[in-house]
Amino acid sequence: MSTRIGSVGTPDVLADVDRPAPWSHADLRAATEERARSAGGVFVASGGTSGDPKLTVMAPDLGVPKVVAHWRPLGPGDCLLNLFSTGKMWGAHYFYNALATACHATVAPMGALHPEEFRQWVDVIVDMGVNALAGAPNVLARFAETAAAAGLRLPVRAVIWSGEPMTGARVATLKAAFPEAGLWGNYGSIETFVIGTSTPDCRLGALHLLPGQLVEPRDEGALLTRVGEGWPTPARRFRLGDRLRAAECPCGAADAFEVVSRADDNVKLYGGMVSIGEVHARASRLDGVRDTQLLLYRDPEVPSAVVGMRLRYTGPNGDAAAVRAALVRAMEDLDLCDRHTPEAFTVEHADDVERSPRTLKVLPVLWRSADDLAAVVGGAA
Ligand SMILES: [Zn+2]
Repeated sequence: MSTRIGSVGTPDVLADVDRPAPWSHADLRAATEERARSAGGVFVASGGTSGDPKLTVMAPDLGVPKVVAHWRPLGPGDCLLNLFSTGKMWGAHYFYNALATACHATVAPMGALHPEEFRQWVDVIVDMGVNALAGAPNVLARFAETAAAAGLRLPVRAVIWSGEPMTGARVATLKAAFPEAGLWGNYGSIETFVIGTSTPDCRLGALHLLPGQLVEPRDEGALLTRVGEGWPTPARRFRLGDRLRAAECPCGAADAFEVVSRADDNVKLYGGMVSIGEVHARASRLDGVRDTQLLLYRDPEVPSAVVGMRLRYTGPNGDAAAVRAALVRAMEDLDLCDRHTPEAFTVEHADDVERSPRTLKVLPVLWRSADDLAAVVGGAA
């Protein structure tokens, strides 16, 4: 895990000290507030649905000029329907408005559009000449389904996604509704905005670092360093919440990487260690599995241990037993658990999963008490 990703060599900010301590969020916030005292900026908040929001001040231009110099999903004549949620200081919506106009495209700052609101807006969407969409992948897939069900044939040529994984099932849903659409992805955090991007030529899951950055892969979370000016936030060995690793991409662009998992996503299950991200990733690769969500039942005795794990998923594949069997076969620690406590891992097919009320991203994990598990196993819920 020592290979660095990035073509900037050893930047001065890292060379001046042998191994400067990684930046915490407090360090990053202090650096952004220092800059904002003269340059101004835009507050964004992360982690708002549970616990205290983390605050960061983005550069006044949100780093958009730096991004569009290397990644330009839109052009003159395009009209982007921005489906990222508005308000509550979540930054994505404002970033995509700025991205569109920086590309000399027009943007429709719609925000979250629930399926039941679709009917009242559909004529407006057609009238504006929308030919590009931006949103979290599950939101985009639901929009595509709603549009297809309504018989709406929008001439979508670009779909811009971020914020959660783009899975094969979501791609299939998007391509069925919008066969001409190219997929443009990006990866970042709410504290850093865009770190890497993908184009329609990229392998699903592969991204490329924007030039001028260095990533040090670490099991505890990759470290990001940014060199030079123009970034939405500076970063010096800032610890990200994800594990990243170098990757290959057939598009041939430099500095390819992929997101492996969240850094803190292992839970103890009856003696084994199960990666939440791996369960999601493997389930999402199965045919007909769309959105996935894990219900974790806390062990009342042992911190970070669970006494039960329930995978809930949506999509046309209704065979929950086959999904369960495929996961148990593929993951050794689930297999071991299955031999002595099979009831600790269950899989259910559902019509829908829970989403964050703020960002509409699918909540990857819902924590429950061990008492809730007893109720489920007992058939009471
Ligand atoms: Zn690529």
